[in-house]
Order: sequence, then structure tokens, then C-alpha cells
Amino acid sequence: MTAEEIERAIALEKAQLAQAQAQELARLQAEAQAEQLRLQAEAEAAAIRAEREAIADAKRKEEIFLKTIPEQVNKDPQDHLKERMGGGENLFFTVPERLVVGNPARIYVNKSRSDTLRGKHNVRFFAGFNDWKLEEWDTAMIPVGSDADDYAYSEFQVPDLAYGFNFVFEADGNFENSGGDNFFVDVHYGKTKEEVEKFLRDKAAYEKDLAEATAACETEKYEAGMRKEGVAEGEYMKDGRVIFKTDRGVKSGTTFMMFNKAMNPIGGPAGDIRIHVGFNKFAQGFEYELIMDRVKGAPVDPENDWYGVNLEIPHTAYTIDMVISDEKKEQWDNNDGYDYRLLVEGGEGNATTKDWDARIQERIVYLAKMREEAEEAARVAAKARRKRREAAHREATLVTRRQQQHIITCEPPYPKAGDTVKITYHPQNTNLGLAQDVYITGGFNRWTHETAEIPASVMTRPTETSTFVEFDITIPTDAWMMDFVFSDGIVEGSTYDNHFGRDYHFPVEDSSVEKPPLHITHIAVEMAPIAKVGGLGDVVTALARAIQDEGNLVEVILPKYQFFNSSPMLGNMEFEGEFEALGTRIVVTKHVVEDIQVFFVEPMNGMFAVDSVYGRNDDGVKFDFFCNAALEFLLQTNRQPDILHCHDWSTATVAASYWQNYHNYGLWKPKVVFTIHNMNYGQMKIGEASFHAQLTTTVSPSYAGEVSGHAAVRDNLHKFHGVRNGIDSEIWDPSTDQFLPMNYSADNHEDGKRRAREEIQGRFGLTWGSDQPMVAVVSRLTAQKGLDLIKHSIHHSLKRGAQFVLLGSAPDPKVQGDFNAMAGSIGGPNAAFAFAFDEPLSHLVYAAADFILVPSMFEPCGLTQMISMRYGAVPVVRATGGLRDTIFDVDTEKDRAAWEVDGSTDWKVTGDATNGFSFEGTDIGGLEYALDRALDTYYNDRIWFRQFQERIMRQDWSWNRPALDYIELYYSAIRG
Ligand code: ADP
Repeated sequence: MTAEEIERAIALEKAQLAQAQAQELARLQAEAQAEQLRLQAEAEAAAIRAEREAIADAKRKEEIFLKTIPEQVNKDPQDHLKERMGGGENLFFTVPERLVVGNPARIYVNKSRSDTLRGKHNVRFFAGFNDWKLEEWDTAMIPVGSDADDYAYSEFQVPDLAYGFNFVFEADGNFENSGGDNFFVDVHYGKTKEEVEKFLRDKAAYEKDLAEATAACETEKYEAGMRKEGVAEGEYMKDGRVIFKTDRGVKSGTTFMMFNKAMNPIGGPAGDIRIHVGFNKFAQGFEYELIMDRVKGAPVDPENDWYGVNLEIPHTAYTIDMVISDEKKEQWDNNDGYDYRLLVEGGEGNATTKDWDARIQERIVYLAKMREEAEEAARVAAKARRKRREAAHREATLVTRRQQQHIITCEPPYPKAGDTVKITYHPQNTNLGLAQDVYITGGFNRWTHETAEIPASVMTRPTETSTFVEFDITIPTDAWMMDFVFSDGIVEGSTYDNHFGRDYHFPVEDSSVEKPPLHITHIAVEMAPIAKVGGLGDVVTALARAIQDEGNLVEVILPKYQFFNSSPMLGNMEFEGEFEALGTRIVVTKHVVEDIQVFFVEPMNGMFAVDSVYGRNDDGVKFDFFCNAALEFLLQTNRQPDILHCHDWSTATVAASYWQNYHNYGLWKPKVVFTIHNMNYGQMKIGEASFHAQLTTTVSPSYAGEVSGHAAVRDNLHKFHGVRNGIDSEIWDPSTDQFLPMNYSADNHEDGKRRAREEIQGRFGLTWGSDQPMVAVVSRLTAQKGLDLIKHSIHHSLKRGAQFVLLGSAPDPKVQGDFNAMAGSIGGPNAAFAFAFDEPLSHLVYAAADFILVPSMFEPCGLTQMISMRYGAVPVVRATGGLRDTIFDVDTEKDRAAWEVDGSTDWKVTGDATNGFSFEGTDIGGLEYALDRALDTYYNDRIWFRQFQERIMRQDWSWNRPALDYIELYYSAIRG
């Protein structure tokens, strides 16, 4: 080999070696990597195994825990205490630690940890589940050991449907109840609160359906034999033609039923036939309906036009009953009221108990479906109501805003949080007309904003001769309301314009903070419809609802009268709490009435075990007791409403009693608003409440003016306000009113009112279908209501060619006697008299009447004139109290009407808003003058009259605007 060759051989060998080494290295590396992956996989597997084991272990432990609960519970109490030693600082503990549904449990209380229980042998345990709604009981606790400071325990079973455990301890009449909140611990392994509530709702609904279906089927079964008498067999013949037949007889199971539509006007073109089916002479009404199709291949000629469909006939049917309609259910054929009916072959004796059970089950399914449909309809209706309310709220806000725009405006008019806005103020229209400089003081969020405020600042007058002044304000991002007052200076003795105590406000949109709700608690002795004697009951309910609809929390406290026990609306009341006070035990239950949470106060001394709201000689004593019991309830349950709202003499005592006996003793927060619905009763108490309340209201501005000199209020006029009542626009709505023969709105009032008029004419034997105007009075017949004027109006209306309807109730027999005599002498084809308090009839009278007369001598507010407008009956009223504030005379009050109804200063721009006829005096001359003018419009210009009816129907006399006024007053009471 040459040296060269040797070198090459060495190089080759080196290269081969290097390659082999590299390969070996790669192999080793791969191996190491594989090993690492293997180890990693193993570790992961081990971790998973460990986790699974831990889970399995926990599960095993849990299973053991669950299985052995009875054992754990059933130990010697001393053992339980030992196990808990060290952790024994708590007031109580339970065994097992977590309460489990369907299992026993014990609770131990450490008496030494409670001031109430320490040293007591006689500890009682009051307990229940699910917010006290499930299994409430109380029992003596069993002492452990002999030392009175030791533990005591009680054992109980946790029901399957429990989600929470509520309890308190008691000794010597004193409660250890977690400062009034009651103790609560969760229950495990069961359903959630929502699930339990749904389960119970479903269960109750099922039980109701089951009972209903069973009862219906029982009756049906009982009568089934009789129901087949005189029923056609095989085919139904009428006028010599076959109308109904089947292909193979009428048998239970599926039967192809055919109907001959020839010569029957129902339906029109092919495919427009609907069959409504029931059984056993419609024992359970219509049970289902189906569309029938033309039968292919059947003859079609003047005598034959066959439609068919498969019907399911149950084994329990003796007869099948049918009625036909067109597809839209507008035209019907019910065989002139006899229905179409065929005997089911062998029906009798076919049905076994099993068949009847199956029928019950079918009925349950049907009832559930109907209920679901009704619930869905209610949801849709609620949504529509919400929308209507929002629109009404916007309109009400707009009118209120227009009514203050001659004093204060904001630019932009609907400010948003963060905006800079210009406030313009017109002092010449206020008590600051003579001010050189005008100062603005402002705040936000009803003066509660803690950091942002506008200290008294002088406003700028754009030019020397400008009558208005301006000021720019930047709204903080967390503001939802701007608040202002104005003054002519900042030194003591300056004159302020604070909008009669309400201050000026502009709502702010898009705030980063939500407006907190007001919490209002009414304390009253009447509430419609469960305890209604008069207008007070209506106002409490409607006002509460209106304020709640504005996004606030409203509750009512009522006495629990005995007659509530039989009220169909109240059903099962829920327990709220009980306490010892005023020398007796007082139990409070609750129920939702007309969407409002109501608390019923029931003293165990039987004070309200009475069958009427008023009428006993101890009314005063009873109601005073109730006022204090209501305050006691608020105190004991630690409620702190913003406002206590009391009404009339009956709950006037709340005002004084709250400030003297409760305000400094725990019930500290509320302010008191007192409303006078009628000044004529309990004036001493009214006077006292006017003194103590932060605000007193009465039910219309004019009535407030009329009674302002009265001793009961005259010393407190600075806090006396008139806010008119409204009507409940859902109860009084001709477009949904169930008491009318035809529902109508402003768009078709002529037809709707004609139908109502004909109904009244028919019922009372008045000349039917007459085109005479109809004048009506709906009233209690008492001196307040202007009895002489009512009587005279009847004669006068008849003289003027009208028909007259009187719906009146007279508590005084002498008054009744007078009216009876009158009815005897002039009742006839043109005058109808109904002496009763008849709510359904009143709806019909409002709808039928062209004119409603309200000639009251005095009238705090009056509802009849507002109801009559809603029904398109033109009010003719004596201008007093609330009648003056709601009715504006067609001939003389266009400006006042525009202002009050539309917030407008120019009726020519916003339109004529007058809505009736009024008179001033108390003699017949005034009445005749107003009634004549009213009737003349009917006789002389019917087109105008119909448009006028439409106009008054469209006006809003509901609670929308008064509610906004009350909210202003509530805030003003809170500010003090
Ligand atoms: P008051 O409360 O003084 O009786 P309002 O005008 O405030 O007068 O309220 C009267 C209410 O009672 C209205 O809802 C009216 O429809 C109703 N009403 C009055 N008399 C009768 C009657 N005889 N039958 C049915 N409802 C009546």
C-alpha cells in the first residue's frame, strides 16, 4: 500500500468509526427519550389512578357517611360532645355536620354561648324547613348533663323536599334568634329551592287536575247510561238526507267520520270544515277539534258533498257528539242547538275500570295543556300591559314636564349621565319674580349623592333685559337624577323657590348606578277587593300598585279580619312571624293581593275576629291597637321602610305612636305620610296625625283648598298637599270589561255603547232601540251626593226627552222611601230605577249612558266622573272638590283643560281638552243650565257629540300622573 492508500484507508476507517459512533449516540438518545416518555406516561397514569382512587375513596366515604347517618346520629350525646370538643365555641352544631335529606339529624345548642339561654333548663326549639314553609314544629330540648349551662339537644328528621333548615331557640319567652333573622343552615343532597318550588307547583297543579278529572269522569260514568236515550244509531239523518255517517259503524277506537256539507252554508270552498268533538252528550264539553278534508271518490252533487276525518272514540263513550264550524270558527252549525250525536255501538258495558282510568289520565293531559296555554296567554298579556304602562308613564312624565317648562327647562331635555347641560330658570313665574340675582343650589340622586353637589351659585342673565337666568352643570356619571332649588340670596332670610316643598328634578339617563327603590309600607284598614267598604280601599290598592309599577317596593299591613278566612282570593296564607306585644301574642301572615305583598296582623286576643271592617262601637280602640301592632311588627322584624303611609282617622294613630314610641327604640328610619280621604270622620285623630306626619295629603287639590281652614289641618298647611286620585284603568276598561255585551274602545264606541244601551233598555223595560239620549246617576244616595239635585235632574231629563237610569244605594230608609215613591210615579218606558250596590250593573250603566250626572254638595275626589269618561259617558258635574279638578267645562274652561290635561298654555296648539259640563251653585237653575247645554249638543250636533265622546275616552285619568306626584312627596317627606 502506498502511503497515500494507507492514509485513505485510515481516513475511511475514521469516517466509518465516526459514523458508527454518531449512530450509537442517536440510538442512545432515542432510547433515553423513549424512556423519558414512558416514565412520564407512567407518572401520568399513576396520577390519574391516584385521582380516581381519591374520588372513589371520597365516594366510598360519602356512601359510608350517607349510609351510616342514623348510626352517627344515634350515639350517646356525650360522645357527640366529645367529638366536637375544641370546636365547641359555636352556639350550636348539628350531627351530621351537613344535614342530609331523608335522614335523621340532631342539633346541639351550647347554652353558655347565649345570654338568653344561659343557665336555663327549659330551652325550647322552634324549627321548620324551607323558609318555615315545610314542617314547622316546636319542642322542648333535651338537656345533656345536669348543669344548666351545658348543652341541650333535639332530634328530628330531614324531609326529602328540604333545601334549608330554619330555627330559633327560646327560654322563658325570650328568643335566641340571630338578632331577629332566625338561624338557617343548608340541607344537602336534595333539590334546590327553585327545584322544590317547581316540584310543589307541578304537584299541586297535578293534584288539582286529577281531582277535577276524577270528579268529572265520576259524574260522566254515573250519568252515561241516561245519556244515550233518544240518540240516533249508525247515521244521522236530517231533512231526509244523511248528514253524518261512518265507513264501518260507530265504534270505540279509530272511526272515520264523514259529514255531508251539501246544502250547508258553512265553510265555503273545500277544506274549510272543522269538527268539534265530545262524548256522552258533551259531558266534558268540547274535547278536541280537527280539520275535515273532502273524501276522495265520494259523490259530489246537490245532495252530497262529503268531508271526512279519523276520530278517536274512547271505550267510555256511549255517544259521540259533534258540532261543525268553518276553519276560522266564525260560522257554526250546531244542529239548531241540538248538536249532532250518534250512539257508539256496544258502548254500554264496554268500558272497564281501566278504560275510565285511561279517560281520567287523558283528561289530566288535556287540563295541563289548557293550563299551559292559559299561562302563556297570561305572559303575553303581562308583556302587553308592561308596554302600555311604559307608554302611559312616558306621556304622564311629559305632561308633568310641560307643566313646569314656564319655570325651568333643561337643554338637552333628556340629559344623560356625563353630559353638560344648561338649566334655564324663569323667576318672573315664581315667588322670585323680584329677585336681582337668582341663586341655584343643586344636588344629585334626590340629594343623596355624597360627593357631587352644586353649592349656591349665582345664575347668569344672558343680557341685562333677559327675563330668565341660566347655569351650566356637568352631570356625574353615577347620577340618575338632578335636584334644584332657587333663591334670591344665600344669607339667612333669603326667599326660596323649592316647588312647594318638592324641589325641582330632572331624571338622568344612562347612569352607571341604578336608582334605589323606595320602600313604602301602607298601614290601612281597607284594601280592595278583599276588604273594601269605600273609596279608601280602592285608593290603597291602586296607589300601591302604581308606586310599585314605578320600580319601588310597596307593602300593605292590614288587620286580619275574620271574614278573610272565607275569602276565595286569600287561600292559604303564609306564616311570616309571631311575637308577644301589647299584652297578647300577635301572629303575622302574608299573601300577595293584586300583585302587592300584604301582611295580615292577627292578635290572639280576638280583637279582629269580626265580620265587618267597621260598625262596632269599639272601632276606635281596635284600630288604635292595630296601628301599634303594625308598628310592633315592623320593629320586631327589623324592617326599616322609607315611608309609613297611613290613611284617614282609622290609622291616623300611626303618626304619633311611631314618633313617640318607636322612632327612638329601634324602628328609626321611616318618615310618615298621612292621607285624608274624608275630613268628616275622626277629626281629632286627623288633627293629631297632621301634626306628627311629615306630610299630609288629601285626595284632590281643590278639596285641599276647601278644607284648608279646618281646625284639623290649618296649623300644618305648610305640609298639606292635594293629589287627585286616579281610577284603575285595568278594572275600568270598556275594551276588556266582562260585564258589557260588546267590548269597545274610542274607535268603535258608538256600536259598543248602543249595544250596552239596548241591554239596559231590555233589562229595565225602557223603550228599546230608542235614539233618545240616556242620562244616568251611579251613586250612594246620601246628602253629600246632592239628593235634591239628583231628583230634579230626573224630572228635567224626562222633560227634555231623555231616558234616565238611576243606580243608587240609600243607607237611610227615609231617603230610600222618597226614591221609591218617585220610582212608583215616574218609572216607566223612559225612567229606570235600580236601588242596590251592584258593581256589574254599574259597569253596564257607565257604558250605556251618554251623560253621567254628579251633582255632589262636596266631593273630596270622586271616581264616577273619571270612570264615566273612560266609558264615553259625558260628565255633568257640580264644580266642587275633585270634580272641579277633573272636569273642565266645554264652554268656559278650554285654557284650564289644556293646562291640566296636556300641560299646555295654548289650547289652540294642543287641541281642546275640555271634557264635560259643570255648574257652580246648589240650586236647580245651575243644574238645569249645565244639563240643557249638555243635551243640546246631543240633539243639535251629533257628529260633534260622538267626537267629543271619543276625546274624553282617550284622556288618561288613571294613577299614572298622581303616582309621580306621590313619589315626589315621598322623597320630600324623606328629606324632612
Ligand atoms: P264615594 O266614595 O263617596 O261613594 P266615589 O265617586 O269616590 O264616591 O266612588 C264611588 C264608587 O262607588 C264608584 O266606583 C261607583 O261606580 C261606585 N258606586 C256608587 N254607587 C254604586 C251603586 N249603587 N252600585 C254600584 N257601584 C256604585
